[in-house]
Amino acid sequence: KGLPPNLMHIPPGCPFHPRCPMAQDVCRTDVPPLYDVTDVDADRGSACHFWRECLHG
Ligand code: SF4
Repeated sequence: KGLPPNLMHIPPGCPFHPRCPMAQDVCRTDVPPLYDVTDVDADRGSACHFWRECLHG
């Protein structure tokens, strides 16, 4: 939900954290790397600190 961030003022950490219901403290400070998710999907990566939790709801 919400609007994309202002590209002139992208939030620190994960740019989705102001409007992400799964956001935790780390999301506000650390940009997520591209995690290797090949154990669940061979053709994709995920730039979410909590990709595994999000995957399972
Ligand atoms: S890293 Fe994942 S959980 Fe954290 S704010 Fe970004 S999308 Fe949400």
